Amino acid sequence: MKTWGKMGVALCCVCLLSAFSGDKGQKDEEEKEAANHSYNPKFMQEAIRIAVENVKNGTGGPFGAVVVKDGKVIASSGNTVTPDNDPTAHAEVNAIRKACKALGSFQLTGCEVYTSCEPCPMCLGAIYWARPERVYYACTKEDAADGGFDDSFIYKEIALKEAERSIPFLNQREEGAGEEFRLWKEKEDKVEY
Ligand SMILES: [Zn+2]
Repeated sequence: MKTWGKMGVALCCVCLLSAFSGDKGQKDEEEKEAANHSYNPKFMQEAIRIAVENVKNGTGGPFGAVVVKDGKVIASSGNTVTPDNDPTAHAEVNAIRKACKALGSFQLTGCEVYTSCEPCPMCLGAIYWARPERVYYACTKEDAADGGFDDSFIYKEIALKEAERSIPFLNQREEGAGEEFRLWKEKEDKVEY
C-alpha cells in the first residue's frame, strides 16, 4: 500500500510533468509559429537597404524585396530592369523567382514578402500566383508615383474598358482558340498550380 502510494505520487508527477511539458511544447510551437509570421522590421530594413544600394550602385530601379520563411531570408533582390533589359525584372518578381528556386517549388507556401514599395499590378499578380502568406510594404504607390514610377496609372487602366486603355486590348478569337483548355481539363497527369 505504501509502495503503491509512492508509485501513485510518482506517476502523478510524471503525468503532471508530461502534461506540463506537452502544453509547454505546444505553446512553444504556437509562439514559434506566431513569431514566424509576425512582422519583423529587420527584414523591411533589408528590403529598403537593397533599394537604396541599387540606386547608389546604379544597378537598377529604387526597389528591393526580401522573401522570408520560418524567420529566415530565403531570397532577396533589387530591381534589375535596366541592366537585364527586362521590364518584368521588378524586385518582387526577381525575389519570388529566387525564392521558388531555393525552395524547389512554384509556390511560396508559408512565406512572407517584404518589399520596399507597394507592389505594382504586375508584382501583385505574381504574388497572387506565388501565394505567400502575407506581404509587407514600406513606401506606397503614391510615393512611387512621386518618384517617377506611376504604378497607380496601371491600376487606373485596369478599371477602363479594354479598348479605351492607353494600350488597347482587343479580343480576336480564331478557330481553335480554347482547344488548349479542353486538353488541359482532360489531362490526367497534369501538375496543377
Ligand atoms: Zn512590380
